[in-house]
Amino acid sequence: VHSGLGEFEIIKRYFEREARDPAVILGVGDDAAVIDVDGPLVVAVDTLVEGRHFPPTLPPESVGHRSLAVNLSDLAAMGARPRWACLALTLPKADPDWLEAFAAGFFELASRFGVDLVGGDTTRGPLIISVQLLGTIESTSALTRAGGRPGDDVYVTGSLGDAAAALALLTGQESDNADLPSELMHRFAYPEPRVDMGLGLSALAHSAIDVSDGLVADLGHICERSRCGAELAVEKLPLSTALLGRFPLDAARQFALTGGDDYELCFTAAPEAAEAIEQLADSLNLTLTSIGRLTDGDRLDVQLGGRSLDIGVAGYAHF
Ligand code: ADP
Ligand code: MG
Repeated sequence: VHSGLGEFEIIKRYFEREARDPAVILGVGDDAAVIDVDGPLVVAVDTLVEGRHFPPTLPPESVGHRSLAVNLSDLAAMGARPRWACLALTLPKADPDWLEAFAAGFFELASRFGVDLVGGDTTRGPLIISVQLLGTIESTSALTRAGGRPGDDVYVTGSLGDAAAALALLTGQESDNADLPSELMHRFAYPEPRVDMGLGLSALAHSAIDVSDGLVADLGHICERSRCGAELAVEKLPLSTALLGRFPLDAARQFALTGGDDYELCFTAAPEAAEAIEQLADSLNLTLTSIGRLTDGDRLDVQLGGRSLDIGVAGYAHF
């Protein structure tokens, strides 16, 4: 890294902050961080590559937000409490304005969810941001993809398809990209990880996943891991007014089924838990929709008007 701003100045100026959690014995500045962990550790890592996971035009503040948000969302889906993060940053150049805005986006979310940045790595190269997030479990065990049972209700939080629609408009995949509604853009640029919902669900749900690759793909993972099938009613998909205002119903539903990047939670629970789950969502001011149920079959059956659709496309696949 060049232009007067060396690697160590970057770290000191933008990323070295006092840890607030007393469990952090040693944070940024030594050869490694030291944390006092008193129970199971939940660990996730996610990498964002410029041009692959976000367009080069995305504001640095949003890049900072998303790099942590995608990991917070993984921990939310585990019903875990996020605690400590490491940030591996590969930068093409040391641009103070970029770093300032990136750090602002990162730390806004980190402080809101009580996450301390305890370490990382800073190198030069194409823009790649990799965040590792560590968390702890407060209930008896983690919420996994594998606990679903036939007869479970399938739920999703919030609304689906907004982020994928925004990305399609942003990258010109949609022919008419003149107008990108700010609500849709916000859903892509500043996804809100459902951390508190995940914590509450850890005692109520059987299985959970965060919707990062698209509902069909992600609910498919629950089915596979839980060794069951699912029925999904397309009419029930929660679609935002912003999405419906910009796209015809069919296209909106397609985004909701197969578009990624929403970072909502998809989870399953026994019908008896329905009331408690609704109360939880209400208390968090979060929209919750029951979209189907798990079956003792072996496939994900997507239905429209009671008839099975052959939707063909899976979610986002990297290779
Ligand atoms: P080492 O050479 O031992 O790998 P580094 O010079 O890479 O150490 O890092 C020095 C210290 O700064 C370490 O504590 C490391 O965790 C921290 N660090 C480096 N880059 C970042 C970053 N982007 N964010 C937070 N901490 C960082
Ligand atoms: Mg290093």
